[in-house]
Amino acid sequence: MRELVEAIEAPDSVPADVAALKIPGSYRAAVLRKEEADMFEGVELRDRTPADSLHIQEVPTPEPGPGEVLVAVMASAVNYNTVWSALFSPVPTFAFLERYGRLGGLAARHDLPYHVIGSDLAGVVLKSGPGVRRWHAGDRVVAHCVSVELEGAEGHGDAMLDPEQRIWGFETNYGGLAELSLVKASQLLPKAEHLTWEEAASPGLVNSTAYRQLVTNNGAGMKQGDNVLIWGAAGGLGSYATQLALAGGATPICVVSSPEKAELARRMGAELIIDRAEEGYRFWRDERTQDRKEWRRLGERIRELTGGEDPDIVFEHPGRETFGASVYVARKGGTIVTCASTAGYNHEYDNRYLWMSLKRIVGSHCAHYREAWEANRLIAKGKIHPTLSRTYALDEVGDAVESLHRNAHHGKVGVRCLAPAEGLGVTAPEFRERHETAINRFRAAPPAQHQLPTMEGVAA
Ligand code: NAP
Repeated sequence: MRELVEAIEAPDSVPADVAALKIPGSYRAAVLRKEEADMFEGVELRDRTPADSLHIQEVPTPEPGPGEVLVAVMASAVNYNTVWSALFSPVPTFAFLERYGRLGGLAARHDLPYHVIGSDLAGVVLKSGPGVRRWHAGDRVVAHCVSVELEGAEGHGDAMLDPEQRIWGFETNYGGLAELSLVKASQLLPKAEHLTWEEAASPGLVNSTAYRQLVTNNGAGMKQGDNVLIWGAAGGLGSYATQLALAGGATPICVVSSPEKAELARRMGAELIIDRAEEGYRFWRDERTQDRKEWRRLGERIRELTGGEDPDIVFEHPGRETFGASVYVARKGGTIVTCASTAGYNHEYDNRYLWMSLKRIVGSHCAHYREAWEANRLIAKGKIHPTLSRTYALDEVGDAVESLHRNAHHGKVGVRCLAPAEGLGVTAPEFRERHETAINRFRAAPPAQHQLPTMEGVAA
């Protein structure tokens, strides 16, 4: 692997140098093991430790098949799906791999006794499989996390509707938390030239998800002037939703849970901020009963901040904890757009506030290739910036995932795979210089202390 990194990082490196490299027969990867899939049975989610299930091990290099590309991964990032995978929740991801494998052909290779996870990467194309024309050895790329087959008609209007749509590195094998990765050519996007490897690897999944969820007509179709209530505004999804709202002429109302996270939202340009921990919202009186007075208190606080207006859009992902409040506070005719249920997927809300006020709930999931391309273009043009707070080495991936599991991170968490150090990979230094102030402003400061409250501690 050293030769490979040297060829990529050499100042006079040309694609032919990369194309001439001998591809190693195996590589180091963050894997889950099928034989351990029941290791947490009977253990509460909060007591599960990702470092117990995640292993760094050598795995054989796959040969790229038709339409596939093998990539040298310089850096990757942790997403919340990495947390779900490592906790084997709600189901071990091996169930996804088995189902994929049953398609046969190239898909059968994904059903292995180990799962290489990870749904983001920045790196360099090493080898393209038969039929790939657009991408060549030496190309610097990031990967979009959606893998589709598109053999049926269903996905041809919106690839997210393909019955065989999967999240790479979660529902497929050969993910990005590794030295090498196998992707479909239709997942690749050009790497932003002004960013380092770890910066470039961090926005992908969350930025494209937030883009569809908030901006395009497949999601909320945000327009200028909209008030957007953003839960977790200093987290992965939320830090991009906040930027997209600001860049699109909307007004984000950012919900966070600490003064440091409020500061990050402020540095991104948000003015209306709610610290849910400081203001002590408790939407659930007990496990079964929600407190409507608390919904109202949140609604009043939003009106106080906006000068009497309600959110046109609520950007939802905490789920059970907040969903009742989200439906309540949306304006008459407003949209609650959801892509997740971190705090529980059995949502409860009072339907009278939905139908009588003609609100709509929209489900959104990741983004199709075109949406991802557009979201990536905003990064490449320096209109949206990475919100990376800390980068771990591949060996420390367990700690990196733990920080998300404990909600003890800010913005995004990166992982160095082949990159020997942070700060490498910039090929447009002048462009970077022009955006340096913004890049630094948007970079999330790592939390002051690493053991912040558990999810339960901040959930109310
Ligand atoms: P993240 O980096 O952990 O950020 C989530 C933020 O939500 C946290 O920073 C936290 O902010 C807030 N939060 C957590 N629990 C909460 C609760 N009970 N009540 C209110 N706020 C809460 O994670 P992420 O990457 O943004 O992902 C968030 C969720 O979206 C995950 O469940 C993930 O699996 C899902 N997701 C889905 C898709 C998709 O395509 N469907 C894509 C990406 C992510 P504060 O503590 O500061 O309030």
